Amino acid sequence: MTDERIFAPGVLHAGGRALRYTDLPALLGARLGRMPLVLRHLLDNVVRHTDGAEREAAVDALLAWLDTGTSEAEIPFQPGRVLMHDTTSTPALVDIAAMRDALAEAGVDPTRLNPVLPVDVSVDHSLAVEAYARTDAPVLNLQHEIRRNAERYRFLRWASTALRGVRIHPPGTGIMHTINLEQLATVATTEQRADGEWAVPDQMIGTDSHTPMVNGIGVLGWGVGGLEAQTVMFGLPTMLRIPDVVGVRLTGALRPGVLATDLALVVTQRLRAIGVSGEFVEFHGPGVSTLAAGERSVIANMAPEYGATTGFFGVDTRTLDYLRATGRSEAAIALVEAFCRQAGLWFDPQATPRFTRGIEIDLATVGTHVAGPRRPQDLLDLPQAPQALAKTGFVPAHRQEGLPDFPVAIAAITSCTNTSDPGLLIAAGLLARKARRLGLRAAPWVKTSLAPGSPAAASYLARAGLAEDLEAMGFAIVGYGCTTCIGNPGPLPDRVRDAQKDGACKAVAILSGNRNFPGRVHPDVELSFIMSPPLVVAYAIAGDAARDLQGQGVFTTDEGRTVSLAELWPTREEIEAHLRQGLQAADFARDFAAATANPLWQALEAPATPLFPWDSTSNALRRPPFAAASEGSLLGDFRAHPLLVVGDDVTTDHISPASAIPPDSLVADFLVARGDKRDDLNVFASRRGNWQVMMRAAFHNKTLVNQLKPGMPVAHTLHVPSGEVMPIWDAADRYRDAGESVVVVAGERYGMGSSRDWAAKGQRLLGIRAVLAPSFERIHRSNLIGMGILPVRLEDGWCPQRMAMQPGDRVEVDAAPGRIEPRGPVAVRIVRADGRVEPVPARAAVETRMEVSLLRDGGVIPSILKQHLPH
Ligand code: SF4
Repeated sequence: MTDERIFAPGVLHAGGRALRYTDLPALLGARLGRMPLVLRHLLDNVVRHTDGAEREAAVDALLAWLDTGTSEAEIPFQPGRVLMHDTTSTPALVDIAAMRDALAEAGVDPTRLNPVLPVDVSVDHSLAVEAYARTDAPVLNLQHEIRRNAERYRFLRWASTALRGVRIHPPGTGIMHTINLEQLATVATTEQRADGEWAVPDQMIGTDSHTPMVNGIGVLGWGVGGLEAQTVMFGLPTMLRIPDVVGVRLTGALRPGVLATDLALVVTQRLRAIGVSGEFVEFHGPGVSTLAAGERSVIANMAPEYGATTGFFGVDTRTLDYLRATGRSEAAIALVEAFCRQAGLWFDPQATPRFTRGIEIDLATVGTHVAGPRRPQDLLDLPQAPQALAKTGFVPAHRQEGLPDFPVAIAAITSCTNTSDPGLLIAAGLLARKARRLGLRAAPWVKTSLAPGSPAAASYLARAGLAEDLEAMGFAIVGYGCTTCIGNPGPLPDRVRDAQKDGACKAVAILSGNRNFPGRVHPDVELSFIMSPPLVVAYAIAGDAARDLQGQGVFTTDEGRTVSLAELWPTREEIEAHLRQGLQAADFARDFAAATANPLWQALEAPATPLFPWDSTSNALRRPPFAAASEGSLLGDFRAHPLLVVGDDVTTDHISPASAIPPDSLVADFLVARGDKRDDLNVFASRRGNWQVMMRAAFHNKTLVNQLKPGMPVAHTLHVPSGEVMPIWDAADRYRDAGESVVVVAGERYGMGSSRDWAAKGQRLLGIRAVLAPSFERIHRSNLIGMGILPVRLEDGWCPQRMAMQPGDRVEVDAAPGRIEPRGPVAVRIVRADGRVEPVPARAAVETRMEVSLLRDGGVIPSILKQHLPH
């Protein structure tokens, strides 16, 4: 047992004030250095937010972790703020608007329903690259975005006035994780409590899997599903099993010419190779001190790609340098330093904490890499990229004069990952300058774009004299948002699109993003490579994704001179000199404020009513049926038809696509019949306020194979009783009307990819009661539970192949509410069409008692309503 006296807060002095803080050095004593920083953060959180027996139990469990490096114990975590983006916030806020309706209908004052934590919403996910390679592209693309999304954006403006604590960062202000790093994160802040003023660490959650980017500056935060965020917004803690922590010890230093992107790709490959899945990752060792905080943030950002919940770096003087460079006040920086040093949260490169397991990376061994062409963990040395393309087996039906077999269709400097660190954009600018001086330019069939995460990028690139060089290579800024990274690259260049349709080539996307699953970037692009921004510029010039850029004389000038990549590559000294020339701390706040004042956004009229006035003809916003007090639990003992049987690595993009709505799809037919124009349907992500569209969009991905019957069209399934192949939602409706249950049977890592709560909501609307899979990706598992759907983990090597479901086979699941326990056994049986019964060993993929309780309530929304409705 811990001693109650050691919970006494410490006192530190900062800015002339005496501030209390959780005294981890006193609490941990000699064990301080052995506890990973991420667990110290969780310990601090538990001590501040719990008391009595709950606190004793949680603290004891965290201390016991030090003996074993693992734990089954659950602890609560109460973050101080929530970060969302427009496509995850729209459905969450639509749910809240619908919950307000439900309260009003029950005679309860709807204005009582408000988030209790600050909620920041970044409108970053809907910017598409329509105009490019022209200096007015940001204005044109912003106008296009606002016109296309006006109804949804008016709703967001309604939410920011009707709901207390919701702050919207309008289009043009940048990408959420960059905004978090540059504007929102305090690292440490103060808080008025009953017993005085406290210094507390900045701890947060975000409804986006790349939320850990802020771990790069020592802020503990991770991505959760929109539904989990809703529970936190309404004052409930998020419960988590004390995580296993993987230590990544960094030694040495990066070699000249090697960039943070290269290291992030190596970390991704190394951690995927040891099977990281949901653990917290913490970086330690002397190599950490050689990395700037901006570089650390690149590596932290890719936590979901390496399978981790966090990618944490502790606070040190380089963190303080970053805060200073981005315009934080000296008083704020002094508070961070005093607090972290005194509270036991300061990074020590010599410390040797206890980890569950670990790996070591010598930074000097990292080279120039790309990853692809289909997964971010498929790390390649640069010369291996052509071989990887050759292995795809693509042979053109015929050749088109001048166009390579694998043309670079898209070359995009995109994503929070690789545009937030100014050093990476400066490096791209320097490569563009050297190429421009030699008379090189992008190949004419390449769609080029630069979409930084921060509006300050325009200022520092211009001041460093590199904006014009980038523009000359086609990389004029197209706006400040997710663009290509989220599947909004706009249309493919005509020449490549037509040639690909004709079988003359296979289009390749080259991007400084973080994900490259087939169809992620563009529905017609199966092959993509991830890489650093300067390499994106080099590939745009080459125009041929199958060219070995590290070979000799890869580029040819107009005069016929051959140039190697090495001649174009910027040196570390050049990057640092241009950073000094370009960066000014004042840019960050000023440019963000200017972007916030966006007159197009301010001109959008928003209703000023406590209840949102739904428009019954809207194709963007509809009151969802699941946000109702009458929605009950899906638990129970049931026999179900498999609605789909799918293989391994089904992503949330497969389950609920975000990319462009194909104009020849059934979803398009549905929208056109309701008045939309077939040539301007926008992306699926923009329709997440309309459940009728999203239900039809579920599993709408042409690379997803439903194994229930070979050769089915996209988003179709076999309705077993009738023997007909039909759209999935039609089959789901028929099963529902007949009172029959349905489940999904899936392979490993079900729900990998983005933290998309619509992937779970879509399944709820289809009536899916359980998903049976050998493993689930962390956030999707939590989202399924948030929608009341039971995730069932198949055991002992059981998987869809072994289950061999045939038309007419059904699955029995014993999941009565009283039987479901965290990680408890669940009786599952296959009932073959001929009556044979085969048991399948399985467990509930449920981690905490709170998740059990959510399943019993029917999910997050019924649970929140229950708290506000009279009993
Ligand atoms: S990872 Fe891509 S889609 Fe996600 S926030 Fe960053 S830029 Fe946007």
